[in-house]
Amino acid sequence: MRTIALLGNPNCGKTTLFNKLTGSNQHVGNWAGVTVERKEGKIHTPQGDALLIDLPGIYSFGAYSPEEAVARDFLLEENVDGVINILDGTNLERNLYLTMQLLEIGCPVVVAVNMMDEIRAKGANLDIDKLARSLEVPVVGISARTGENVQQLAQTALKLKKRTRGPLYDRKLEQDIEQTQQLLKGNIHPLKGKERYYALQYLESGTLPFLVSREKKYKLSEIRENAIRRYEKIDPQTAIASERYKIVEKIAAKVYTPEENLLKTSVSDWIDKLILNKILAFPLFFLVMYGVFSVSFGNIGILLKKGMETGVFWLTKTAEALLAGIQTNPMIIGLIIDGVIGGMGAVVTFLPQIALIFFFLTLLEDCGYMARAAFIMDKPLRGLGLTGKSFIPMLMGFGCTTPAVMAARTMDTSRDRNMTILLIPFLSCGAKFPIYAMFAGVFYPHHQGQVVFGIYLLGIFVGACYGWFLKSSVYKRNDAPFLMEFPPYRLPSARELLRNTGRKCEEFLKKVGTLIFLLSIIVWILQHISLELRFVTDTSQSIFAMAGEVIAPVFSPLGFSSPEAGGALLAGLVTKEAVISALSVMCAPVPLTDALPGMFTPLSAASFLVFCLLYSPCLSALATMRRELHSWKAAALAAAVQTGIAYIAALAVYQIGLLCCRLFG
Ligand code: GDP
Ligand code: MG
Repeated sequence: MRTIALLGNPNCGKTTLFNKLTGSNQHVGNWAGVTVERKEGKIHTPQGDALLIDLPGIYSFGAYSPEEAVARDFLLEENVDGVINILDGTNLERNLYLTMQLLEIGCPVVVAVNMMDEIRAKGANLDIDKLARSLEVPVVGISARTGENVQQLAQTALKLKKRTRGPLYDRKLEQDIEQTQQLLKGNIHPLKGKERYYALQYLESGTLPFLVSREKKYKLSEIRENAIRRYEKIDPQTAIASERYKIVEKIAAKVYTPEENLLKTSVSDWIDKLILNKILAFPLFFLVMYGVFSVSFGNIGILLKKGMETGVFWLTKTAEALLAGIQTNPMIIGLIIDGVIGGMGAVVTFLPQIALIFFFLTLLEDCGYMARAAFIMDKPLRGLGLTGKSFIPMLMGFGCTTPAVMAARTMDTSRDRNMTILLIPFLSCGAKFPIYAMFAGVFYPHHQGQVVFGIYLLGIFVGACYGWFLKSSVYKRNDAPFLMEFPPYRLPSARELLRNTGRKCEEFLKKVGTLIFLLSIIVWILQHISLELRFVTDTSQSIFAMAGEVIAPVFSPLGFSSPEAGGALLAGLVTKEAVISALSVMCAPVPLTDALPGMFTPLSAASFLVFCLLYSPCLSALATMRRELHSWKAAALAAAVQTGIAYIAALAVYQIGLLCCRLFG
């Protein structure tokens, strides 16, 4: 079967085209050795089928980021039968730069100019035939969203044969390329017809990814020295890049006729003036975010959540009655009702909020606002060596770490993605809120608000310190330039919107059906069998309580050495809400509000809260982190580091607190 690669800039409609071409026939994996997503799908045409491989969205073939290296190496090393190079027709000049570099590699290429619908709507014109003649490759004008010409594009891609060279550069540069190419020919390294690419790479950087004889090396460096002398002050890399730009500008000017009526662009400019206004930008941004979060996590979200809870409650009651009716063993009833339905039900109730938040975020992204929001938050995040793009996932981290970590996918480089994923768990998630509320109510009844607010701030502060540490150690290298681009405002497509939201919900439900299902059973069993593997109704005899007792001494320097605290923290590893539910189960029948003062002092309660804020993310968050970081080790290390930080912070709170108490009475 033929293999076709899909290449294009970020945001040019690559995903939309990929979905149109392959339908639901997709496989998502990973490029070997790097944390870059690899997507494959099948194209069907009357002429036959082909495998479509989605290359990472990039602006050029530098070697700055793993994404660029993945795309470049794939095209150099795999002999693909063709490449579909998708361009955003409304942004032709910037998109054509990558096309220039692609043509240098010389694979058979078809250029797909996307967003033709938008170009027409604007009243602009793009001459497809002229572009084809200039680039010397087939060009198809498409609209990935409406499906216009997409089939024709697929058929053209399947028929590709001719290797391409693309437009010629300046005469002197072409001479250098030609001489270099001659010298490279006959080398042991299989150039596979990619001499032009390697010649240019040598002229740009002075290095080759393979060995050449000493004699050739000398001649090669002579050619390059001459070129450098000719370029005088600029380095050859810049000089060659500007050659590419010259051609790109010439072609773009020839084929693109801008709209005569400037009203449409000026509306977009006008909106930008308002949204990016120095004074209004931040308040507007927070208003929008506040809106999204207050709908998703506020009244409407809570209402929907209540609905889900009612449903789960009804299911529990019905199942209970049913099981009792057929005289099931009480142990089995407990397992099904408290374990399976209780555990899965508690998580499923978050579904509406997750659907809402993803719906709104997709909406904001699709209409073009997110690019602007990221721009606004760019400056504060620069301090951590991150960019504005990290902001959205981080914001989501205050809701739930799991979807927030998933949202980090939108980041362009894996460095930023990984660092964002590592920082998200420091932003206190919603599941921890019941812990804060419960403890603050019992121990600091007159300062509840301040205490909870302070805990949130502490999380942000520790996260910022950790980010700063990562920036100055592990993630120092950040040579990938951050290209901020503003896509034009677009009316979002309802289908893509629902599809995206639906996919997120599906992922979430899958997790509930597998991981949460298993964990719920395990936790319940651990809470109901003793060390001798006998069923116990008194949970304080269970393995779970024993384990709590074993780890309790570990926490005594932090001020809370009761087995209940240890057991609750263990349960919190599964999901944070479980800290409270496990505590109340273990203290039953005494109400938790009465039992807590017996286990904690106000000081050790503070230390416990700090520990809960910072220690290892819950299992579902960790599982998501493992998937997104593509490494068990990285996720385990993150959990260990966080638990270490939590321990030190709680220790400091307790010991310094004790000292203060002694000093000041
Ligand atoms: P990617 O970043 O390259 O994967 O781009 P996406 O496929 O996510 O598309 C970016 C945005 O462009 C989305 O809002 C799409 O709905 C929109 N889009 C994609 N193709 C077209 C098109 O042909 N016409 C219009 N008007 N919008 C499009
Ligand atoms: Mg995409």
